[in-house]
Amino acid sequence: MAELAERQAGIMAAPSANQPPAGFERKPGAEHPVPNSAPIDVDWGDALTPLLRDFPAPSAEVEQALRRIAEADGVIVNRWVADLWSGQPLPDDIGLLPFIAAALQIELARWAAALQPDELGRTTEPSRCPVCAGWPVASLLRTVGETPGLRYLHCGFCASEWLYPRIQCVHCGSGEQIAYHGIEGGDPAVQAETCDACHTYLKRIDRDKSPGADALADDLATLALDVLLNEQGYQRFGFNPLLILGQ
Ligand SMILES: [Zn+2]
Ligand SMILES: [Zn+2]
Repeated sequence: MAELAERQAGIMAAPSANQPPAGFERKPGAEHPVPNSAPIDVDWGDALTPLLRDFPAPSAEVEQALRRIAEADGVIVNRWVADLWSGQPLPDDIGLLPFIAAALQIELARWAAALQPDELGRTTEPSRCPVCAGWPVASLLRTVGETPGLRYLHCGFCASEWLYPRIQCVHCGSGEQIAYHGIEGGDPAVQAETCDACHTYLKRIDRDKSPGADALADDLATLALDVLLNEQGYQRFGFNPLLILGQ
């Protein structure tokens, strides 16, 4: 994952044409419905080729996944992106999807970074990203100006962050039965916000406690918290495209 993330950073530093995928155009001040389809029909080679060139495969399985991607045409990559976006991948594709997700993140983050603030508008569902309508991977607390502890949801696809009320379930909107859980001796900056109204949870990362915290990486680094919460009957709401668990 570190190798993949470093390559993403290198590609992001290079300039590109920032055209939004079809159906994802933004209008200033508008309320955007959640698109019916995944962000497809972009030139995937632009991100995938440099991302995977001579990628050091740590196992035969990864090597095979990389070969399948190298041999795929745009139609097949579009299908993988659609399956990833819907959260319903085919079991045989799970091993290659983190690479597809990494390319999708590059495309969407480039596009998001090129937007002006007045172009953002809103998405009709407050729990979905105002830029790409993706799902949050986690929420982040941080001080902004004089205001401590503002809560932002962090998009797992385009890395945009948007303000969301604290102590309110991101899945069902209830604020009645919210609790916070961490692991004794674990990272104190990462907790899970659980909701007993709908039995889901979303991780909450305190950037004031851990200024270098990263939503995607620290989510992956705290899988033990997910295991514990799943044992307690809570369902994960956060969606991390780099962590494809299948069924
Ligand atoms: Zn987004
Ligand atoms: Zn809830």
